[in-house]
Amino acid sequence: MNSFFKYDDIIAKAGEKALEAASASFARIDEIRAYNQEKVLAAFIKNSVNESHFTESTGYGYGDRGRDVLDNVLADCVGAEDSLIRHSLTCGTHTLGVALFGMLRPGDTMLCVTGTPYDTIHSVIGIKGNGMGSLKDFGVTYKQVDLLEDGTIDYEGIEKALDEKIAMVYIQRSRGYSLRPSLGVEDIEKISKIVRNKSDAIIMVDNCYGEFVERTEPVSHGADIIAGSLIKNPGGGIAKCGGYIAGRADLVEKCAYRMTTPGLGREVGPSLGQTRGLFMGLFNAPHIVGEALKTAVFAASLFEQLGYETTPHSSEKRVDIIQALKLCNSETLVAFCQGMQKGAPIDSNVCPEPWDMPGYDNQVIMSAGAFTGGSSIELSSDAPLREPFAVWMQGSLNFDSGKVGVMLAAQEIYKRGLLK
Ligand SMILES: *Cc1c(COP(=O)(O)O)cnc(C)c1O
Repeated sequence: MNSFFKYDDIIAKAGEKALEAASASFARIDEIRAYNQEKVLAAFIKNSVNESHFTESTGYGYGDRGRDVLDNVLADCVGAEDSLIRHSLTCGTHTLGVALFGMLRPGDTMLCVTGTPYDTIHSVIGIKGNGMGSLKDFGVTYKQVDLLEDGTIDYEGIEKALDEKIAMVYIQRSRGYSLRPSLGVEDIEKISKIVRNKSDAIIMVDNCYGEFVERTEPVSHGADIIAGSLIKNPGGGIAKCGGYIAGRADLVEKCAYRMTTPGLGREVGPSLGQTRGLFMGLFNAPHIVGEALKTAVFAASLFEQLGYETTPHSSEKRVDIIQALKLCNSETLVAFCQGMQKGAPIDSNVCPEPWDMPGYDNQVIMSAGAFTGGSSIELSSDAPLREPFAVWMQGSLNFDSGKVGVMLAAQEIYKRGLLK
């Protein structure tokens, strides 16, 4: 350990041991990162990306060559027929909403097979809120198959729930703020096979936090369409905002008509100078995801050394960049987030406090110190102050600084006399 940051002996030693214990997981991450980096480079070369593609378009943005080439590059990176990647998709929720409204029609039923979906999607579906123009307001019915008690997929339940009214099967890959296991592409393939046996429903995956964590994406395992946010994995920490949708060409076209308007679709939408950042972020994404994964594994390993329960365990195979740590009580959660904030490159001088966040029954504390507002491919943590007293953390643009953030979180817990 270097001299820029001070740790007590017990934390410094645990850090060294944690690093040693993580070496096999790190090697696995390196292998996948190298594979995905070559895949992305090959996609850039196949599509002959040129400097001229970075040219800014304004107004309608007709014939923006860079925008169209970028769509093809992303499609090749994720194994899709077609894709839309746009700074004008404002966030992950917006992107998922565009995809849902783009593909579902009045009278259709959407079946979520991974339990209750991510909080912000509830208002899109219409299981929360009124009069906002949700899918429900437009005559789309929502059903869900709950997870089994241990948080795993109810494959039999899915098979039973499939009928001719189901127009879409919706899968959320990442755990969100729950402790259920996140889904790997193999789990998604298993669900897809069950669905395809009985139904030609569209299989859609909320792919947030999963991109470039495995060698392939859900599209190569039976999913018809995937969507996600550019201030998470595929933006590589460089995209300033945005989202993407990728998959079957006929479905991507429908989404394009919702993204702008019927008739215009993908033909309009000026790049406003954002294309270079989107190309560069996508190019860097496999590397950045590797750094975020190492930070997550190190955090798990360190807190295992200190006697805490972690999920996933530091030795487990990764399918997204989220790490949950069970820290036993509110005081420890607060110490963790305040300690991590001290190691952020931006806003290290602010002290996060628990607050009554709209939509939550308990107070929530968060740490974030990012170059891009709200970016969670940069190191950040969130903890609702309630059972099971877990903190969810993700990101880091590089492992060396992410490690400091995690170490300072542990140091703060120790300093306050809260260590288990
Ligand atoms: C982040 C996330 C979203 C929503 O993305 P925002 O950019 O926050 O709107 C949806 N689903 C999952 C699983 C996510 O992790």
